[in-house]
Amino acid sequence: MINVAQITASAIGLEFGVSKCATLHVHRGVLESSDAEPVDTLLGMALPTLQEDNMYKYLKFLESAALPHGEIKSKLREDYGKRLDAIFKSGLTAGYLAKAVNTYAMPLLTYSFGIINWRPVELEQLDILLRKKLTKKGWHHPRAYRERVHLVRAEGGGGFQSVVDLHERSLIQINKYIEGHQDHIAIALLKQYHHEKAKYSVSSDAAKYLAKIGMEESATKEQIRQGYQRHREETIRKKPLHGQFWLMLQDAELDRGLSFAWLRSSALRPATESIVMAIQDQAIPTRNLQEIFNRGTGVSTKTSCRMCGRDKETVFHLIGACTACAGSHYINRHNRLAKYLHWTLCRKYGASDISNKYTSHQLTNVVYSAETDVSIYWEVPIPTAAPVGANRPDIIIKGKDEAFLVDVSVPLDRNIRRKSVEKIQKYQGLKREMEQMWQVRAKIVPVIVGALGGLTPSTADFVRELDAGASVSILQKEALLGTVDIIRSITQMK
Ligand SMILES: [Zn+2]
Repeated sequence: MINVAQITASAIGLEFGVSKCATLHVHRGVLESSDAEPVDTLLGMALPTLQEDNMYKYLKFLESAALPHGEIKSKLREDYGKRLDAIFKSGLTAGYLAKAVNTYAMPLLTYSFGIINWRPVELEQLDILLRKKLTKKGWHHPRAYRERVHLVRAEGGGGFQSVVDLHERSLIQINKYIEGHQDHIAIALLKQYHHEKAKYSVSSDAAKYLAKIGMEESATKEQIRQGYQRHREETIRKKPLHGQFWLMLQDAELDRGLSFAWLRSSALRPATESIVMAIQDQAIPTRNLQEIFNRGTGVSTKTSCRMCGRDKETVFHLIGACTACAGSHYINRHNRLAKYLHWTLCRKYGASDISNKYTSHQLTNVVYSAETDVSIYWEVPIPTAAPVGANRPDIIIKGKDEAFLVDVSVPLDRNIRRKSVEKIQKYQGLKREMEQMWQVRAKIVPVIVGALGGLTPSTADFVRELDAGASVSILQKEALLGTVDIIRSITQMK
């Protein structure tokens, strides 16, 4: 047979790799010490014989009469850890970090699935290893919800695949392959073997995993992948603390894709991203959280807000409902977004002396562009003939025949829709007055982004109306950074 292989190989211009070959003599499952003659090949070379303590590498795995599972597993664990360390030193942003782990470190392990007998607890430990390394780096908050690390980024997760999930999904696929190939002798034998091994058989495991995600055997690979995502997400949603943000997204009818756009674009550094997730997961050391931890220990904990002293100090209260924060913290956050919008407008209308970066832009009360004959007002009250109530939106653009009233708000995510309606109603009077005084068509543009990045499609529509090339994801990023600043300064979190 070796000769046939060699003849075939040389016919197509390949050289037979004799140096990679070895012989092994097994009789009834027992390794025979081999004093057998080495096999001569056509080239006249001898093949070495494997002795009892020798191993042979076949498709990357060491083999002898049997697979040394334990040895291979510890080598894989070690290599996996080394690859994680190498990736973590790279300085990548969070999204690319996850991609690198999934494509560079994870395949080391997935390649062994179905061949090496991994026990569930060993796989779980590999997921723990990744999370520990993330936590050590400050890229996963120790109190944030661990399951979230393994959700895809488009759905609000860290994007790191879970070894446990991948293993289960592989076994479902292997079982499907075995079940679907009844004609082949080898497959038929394998099938019989797995059916006989009732406890750890591929078929019983696959059935168990499918049941866990509530799917039938007929489900496609993609449906199964989604099933695992959904299952993980449902676990998060059921958590009384961690699940609150997810329920809020759902109850407030926010756009999931838009609200997690900041994770897809990977705009934040891993450490900042982990704080945003911790805030969303209610894992920040608020007084309310402290009280929950101290329950039953006899330690009494104040739950009233350290800032206003009135309401219960929860994460949601601190980032969007504290009256003591409204005058300073919330204004700073609000102005981050306003500054960016103002910068895009100054550039659009050709104002002079505008910096190249929005971060170094200075807000000034009146900017006039002679080139386009447009004035941009920042926080300037507009005197009107008749009293209109609210007459000072954040930004006013006064052009020759059109005007815009732009008002920014970063409310708690559940109030986004209400806030948008409120702004439109609030400036109706001013809009009418401006149209009469200036003989223009005026538009009210509410720019509302949730304190936790929540968005509805209408924010993007309103921003587009300004036609100044402002990016909603930058507005979202600024809102999140503002929220992180608030939490850091109130709780003294690093
Ligand atoms: Zn307060």
